[in-house]
Amino acid sequence: MAENEKAKVKKGPSPGVLALRKVVDDVYEEARQAKKRGEPVGWSSSKFPCELAAAFGLHVVYPENQAAGIAANRNGEMLCQAAEDLGYDNDICGYARISLAYSAGYRVGRKYDHETGEFIINPASGKPLKDENGQVVLDENGNPKKDPKTQQPFEELVNINDIEAMPEGEEKERALNALKPIRQNLMPAPDFVLCCNNICNCMTKWYENIARMHNIPLVMIDIPYNNDVDVDDSKVKYVRAQFDAAIHQLEKISGRKFDEKKFEEACANANRTAKAWLKVCDYLQYKPSPMSGFDLFNHMADVVTARAKVETAEAFELLEKDLEENIKNGTSTLPFEEKKRVMFEGIPCWPKLPALFKPLKENGINVTAVVYAPAFGFVFDGLDEMAKAYYKAPNSVCIEQGVAWREGICRDNKVDGVLVHYNRSCKPWSGYMAEMQRRFTRDLGVPCAGFDGDQADPRNFNAAQYETRVQGLMEAMEAKDLAKEA
Ligand code: SF4
Repeated sequence: MAENEKAKVKKGPSPGVLALRKVVDDVYEEARQAKKRGEPVGWSSSKFPCELAAAFGLHVVYPENQAAGIAANRNGEMLCQAAEDLGYDNDICGYARISLAYSAGYRVGRKYDHETGEFIINPASGKPLKDENGQVVLDENGNPKKDPKTQQPFEELVNINDIEAMPEGEEKERALNALKPIRQNLMPAPDFVLCCNNICNCMTKWYENIARMHNIPLVMIDIPYNNDVDVDDSKVKYVRAQFDAAIHQLEKISGRKFDEKKFEEACANANRTAKAWLKVCDYLQYKPSPMSGFDLFNHMADVVTARAKVETAEAFELLEKDLEENIKNGTSTLPFEEKKRVMFEGIPCWPKLPALFKPLKENGINVTAVVYAPAFGFVFDGLDEMAKAYYKAPNSVCIEQGVAWREGICRDNKVDGVLVHYNRSCKPWSGYMAEMQRRFTRDLGVPCAGFDGDQADPRNFNAAQYETRVQGLMEAMEAKDLAKEA
């Protein structure tokens, strides 16, 4: 595809995308099966070295990934509120609140008729009904009718502990059935937790609380914030000693010895996944891009939950081929013409993805740089390098390193501007963004706009403010073009 040539829209999921969807589903299904067999299942923070648990063949699931799914289903607010009612502060990260509520037994289930067991449909839900000519069908009052096939039941907050205490029978069966259609409800309870605080300290308290609630072991890897760009030997030594302690704990949890061969396989897979993932991210450098930057957000689940599996590496390699095809055929998954390119800084507001996307689409803005995505590209050789690699999480590196990463991506991916999400949930990330924003403008000479939001709690996002900021950014990018022409 020649530069500035308009790409045709590629519809439907590609083979790589389908393979990636299966990878995540399999992780959760295998964990459920392991639980049924009586094997221990762990909950892990997203940047805990997964290679360690893989060396013992332990099944692990990921609360951050689950919380993002719950938030995207728009059930985050109910669970955040449930956590607040338990006494957790509203200022704590939304992922942590959702996870702590889930851990205490809270679930968002479908509302049902207790007599019949039928789900109660929310009349306000669903898309407008269209006739065979594609025209919206109106009711007797002139309002658009809803397509019954797209309507959803009401949802309500329940507690699994109350349901499990019910006597066996039809009523209990109905209550359990109301939870099943929401797949995030199917994540098994933990028998141990794996926590690495290389992304934030909130993580430490969050996992300590889960361990206490369930009276289960906590495996903790402490990776402190690094004020230097390099990771020196004393830091490597500090983390390596913790790897040894973690291995010892995992031997007790699994009842097995550390399997060197399995560990090496997991490392090889994780490296292969990371390399393929980074190559996929690099496809955003093409102009126009063969994909929408929002696609990367969707694939985050795979790098978080399954980066040490060979199937994940293969699926990302397949996705690389799909993108190569898009380049050859002049197609893109971006459903509109790419007029401007921006870096999206931070985690998306999962409950508000359509609202986030709408003004970008209206203005022809593609997200062609995301720091959140390459942040999972851990590439290393051996345990010392592994310790160093896990030191390089976005929130544990110093501001110079953070700025250099982002500015490198902005240059390589040819952005015209930067859109910064001041994410109320993620204090360590948002805290230094004002200074970073100042540096992007100074160093890159591109306009930056910030908006307030939250990755999981919709109460902290205002669509009108966001739209105005995107509009302002678009005007600033256009003004820059005009000034250049002049
Ligand atoms: S890094 Fe940010 S988003 Fe992730 S758990 Fe910590 S506070 Fe929450």
